[in-house]
Parts: sequence; C-alpha cells; structure tokens
Amino acid sequence: MKAEVLDEIKRKYGDRATDTPFERSLYSRDLAPVPALLVDPLFNTMPDLVVRPANVEEVAEILRTAWAGNIPVTPRAGASTVYFDSVPVKGGVVMDLNLLRGVVGLDEERMTVTVQAGTTWSELDDYLNRRGLTVKSYPSSAPVASIGGWFCMMGYGIGSLKYGSLLSQVRAAEVVLATGEVRVVTRDTDPPLSWFAASEGTLGIVTWLELEVRRLSPMKHFLIQFTNVPEMTRVLTELKDASVTPYNLHFADPACVRAMHDLGLTPGDVQDGCILEIDYEGTDRELAQAEDIIRTMAAGNKSINMLPNEVAEMEWKERFKALRLKRGGPAVLGGEVWLPADELAGYLADINKMSLRYGIDLISYGHVVTPEHATVMTMFYTDETKTLKYIFNLSLVKKIHDIGYRHHGCPYGVGLWNTPYIDRIFSRKRLAGLRERKKTLDPRGTMNPGKVYRSPLLMNPYIFGMGMDVMAGILRAAGRGGSG
Ligand SMILES: Cc1cc2nc3c(=O)[nH]c(=O)nc-3n(C[C@H](O)[C@H](O)[C@H](O)COP(=O)(O)OP(=O)(O)OC[C@H]3O[C@@H](n4cnc5c(N)ncnc54)[C@H](O)[C@@H]3O)c2cc1C
Repeated sequence: MKAEVLDEIKRKYGDRATDTPFERSLYSRDLAPVPALLVDPLFNTMPDLVVRPANVEEVAEILRTAWAGNIPVTPRAGASTVYFDSVPVKGGVVMDLNLLRGVVGLDEERMTVTVQAGTTWSELDDYLNRRGLTVKSYPSSAPVASIGGWFCMMGYGIGSLKYGSLLSQVRAAEVVLATGEVRVVTRDTDPPLSWFAASEGTLGIVTWLELEVRRLSPMKHFLIQFTNVPEMTRVLTELKDASVTPYNLHFADPACVRAMHDLGLTPGDVQDGCILEIDYEGTDRELAQAEDIIRTMAAGNKSINMLPNEVAEMEWKERFKALRLKRGGPAVLGGEVWLPADELAGYLADINKMSLRYGIDLISYGHVVTPEHATVMTMFYTDETKTLKYIFNLSLVKKIHDIGYRHHGCPYGVGLWNTPYIDRIFSRKRLAGLRERKKTLDPRGTMNPGKVYRSPLLMNPYIFGMGMDVMAGILRAAGRGGSG
C-alpha cells in the first residue's frame, strides 16, 4: 500500500518529486552536524520521497494521499533549524515548500501583506521596501528562513522587542490539515491561528499568511563596549525599559568578543570586554530622543566605550552573519536558551564558571526579544569527525541547558533534539493541551511525527539526563571538552 501511494505521488508530480537516494539524502539532515552513529540506530531520517508542490491544491492533494496511506509527511522550507525540526525521523514524504513563493496581495489601507509561506523574509522585505514599507520583525536568518518556517517556530528575532512576536502580527493564515482539508484560520476561528504558531509542522501545512507591515523609517545604530558583563546587563535593562524602545538589542559576551577578534571579525577591532548593539527606528524625533538616552547613559561612565557611528552601522549590516563564528570550528555545538532578561547576568556568570570547570571556551550572544525575555545562544567549537569526542561534547549542551533552567529559562524550540527537555519547556497543563490539539487535528499522527510532544524512549528525560551527566563528569575529570 505504502509503495503504491508513493508511486502515485511520484507519477503525478514528475520532476517535482524524487526518490533517488542522492537527492533524498540531502533532506535527511539540517544545519546541525550529527554523526550517523547517533542517528541511524534510532531514526529513519531518509525520506522515501521528496515532493515540491507549487500551490495549495497540490499541498492538499499530497496530504490527502499520504493520509489515506498512513504515510508520515514532514514539511521543510529553508531548513535553517538545527533540532531536526524539518528532518523526518520515520521516513515517509518530505514536502519541500520552496515553490510556494511570492506576494499574493498588499493592502495598504489595512497595512497588511499576504504572502506565500515559502517566501523568504529577505524576499518579502525587498518587495515591501520598493514600496516604502517593511516587515515589523524578522529572524536573523532572514535571507534563507521562510515566512511559514518562522511562524511554525517560535517567531522572535530582530524587531520583536518593539513589535512583539510574529504571532501577534499575523492576522490570518491558510492551513492544510493532515487530512488534506484546507482552512483559513484567524484569532476567532476554531481551531484558532495560535494553534499553528510554533507547531513545528506537526498540525498542518501553512500555505499563506497575512501579516502586518509598517512604513519604512530611518534608523540609528549604537555600539558600546563594556569592561564587564554586570555593567552591560545593567545598561541593557535600562535601555529596554526606557521611554523609547529599541528596535533591536543584541549582546555579545567576552568569549564571543574574543572569538570574533581571533577570526578578524570584531567591529572596530575590539579585543576584549563585551559588546551591546542598540538599534532604533522611528521618527526623527524618536531617534533624537533615543540618542539623548544613550548619550546621557554613557556620560561619565568609565566602563563604557562608545564605538564610532560607522562601526555601529557596519555591525548592523552584518546582522545576518551569526554563522561566521563557525569559521573557528570545524563545527560548533551549543544550546539556545529562552531566558528571563533579568537572569542574563547570572546566566552568563554561571556559563563563565562552566567554561573554567570544563576547560572550554563557551561563547554567548543573543537578543532581548520582549521586555521580559532574551534568547541566548551559548556555543563551543567541536569536531564532528571525532565521533567519540563529539558524543561526549553533547553532554556539555545539556550542562548549558541546566544553567539556563537554573535561571528559569528553557530551550528555544523543540524539534527532536530538545524533546528530553519538554517538561522544562512546557508546564504539565500546557503539554497536555498541546497533545490534545495534536489528537484533534492529526489523530493518525502523520504530520511530522516524532517531534515536539514526547521524547523517543531512549531520549526520555530520566535516561537522557543520567547518561549526559555521566559523560559530562568524565569530560570534567579529563579537563577537556571542545574540539581539542
Ligand atoms: C544564522 C541563524 C540565525 C537564526 N536566527 C533566528 C532568529 O533570530 N529567531 C528565530 O526564531 N530563529 C532563528 N534561527 C532559526 C531558524 O532560522 C528559524 O526558526 C527560521 O524561521 C526557520 O525557517 P525555515 O524556513 O528555515 O524553516 P524550516 O527549518 O524548514 O522548518 C522549521 C519547522 O517548521 C516546519 N515548517 C516549515 N515551513 C512550514 C509551513 N509552511 N507549514 C508548516 N510547517 C512548516 C518544519 O516542519 C519545521 O518543523 C536562526 C538560524 C540560523 C542558522
């Protein structure tokens, strides 16, 4: 039955469907380098078929066919995630959504744009900029990340501090449910729009979204070097709560500044301390007020070095290049933590202690994304070709998340690899609610199975936690993690 169904899809979609091993293998991984030794015994990440639908009717037809044959379907767009969110773990069909591209309509009265889900954030913003408009927020992976992909993930990034989560900016979306049924969802429908935000492709496929836009406005950028982290986080708190809200607030800890310097990437050739980037957008009056706030805060503060405006502007232009730090590799491992902003200083202090304890450079940077929350990426260099060492290094990712948890944080996003932490990410009540949604909309569990709702047996929090802690203990005794 399964073979017949797959054949039917393949015949129908011609050169937009492939079952060749080489092409399918490209869909069996994402940006995270994970050795086959860890993956192959547990999961079937090789899709049986990859298909590229070009419109909602095709998405619906493929889902209907897969549903009838009980075949898993994994949606995939930019594949810029790292937790196997868009990698199948039970084979089946990968639906590549990159042909669902382009703007469907612009409504300048409502100040909204309707856009196909596979369009990248940069493509949409280019389209809007030509008309004097822009998006309210976007991820720092905007050149490759799709509108639908960010909506189905957490949806916080550049601009969120001022304009809120992506969910709060979306007015409506078209979704195709696991059965192939097409629905338009809003805040008032049943199911509501909010069910699909951060659902990681487990409830259906989003084909278009209507989002709020804003007029393009001038920007001003500031870059400040601090001698120490506590002073940086004090100023960060002051600025995020000030009368003019920054559009973007980005920080880098001393290890990050050092790594950037070693790679020849630091703005203004800064070698030490930590860095805060503050970007404002708004009317000329708001920008003048913002400049006033910054200059007043900096006046007489000996632990602050204001870098020249040109350097700040250059750093803003580099905002999509977070991955350049990877050049210090061969590879990087790490954890991204959703953290209360007022815990940032404590978190970074504990990360520094961990760095000393394990003899490893831990590099942290991130954004303040709401008045209360920051996302912090803490990473270290490793080498995926040294498999045993790499596997031991994974235990350090758990230690990073443990520090985040001690500071009331949790992993940012779930996918497969963060399922051992689901009881930290969701309260018991919330998780029960999410599982209920899944049962209602996808009772056969064919949409992106193996993600979000529960961990696979061998990765259950207890076994996983114990195993990782033992490995971390061995690393600590040996006094070396990382790529060395
Ligand atoms: C350098 C870099 C910077 C990043 N910056 C940010 C950031 O600022 N903020 C942030 O939140 N993340 C960030 N990310 C993570 C990632 O880029 C974002 O989550 C991104 O929005 C994912 O979009 P994508 O198109 O790549 O989705 P994919 O990785 O293809 O998919 C993500 C998930 O959504 C599902 N999915 C994708 N499209 C659809 C659809 N149309 N319908 C239903 N399900 C779908 C997939 O099945 C998968 O579960 C960053 C990553 C990198 C590498």
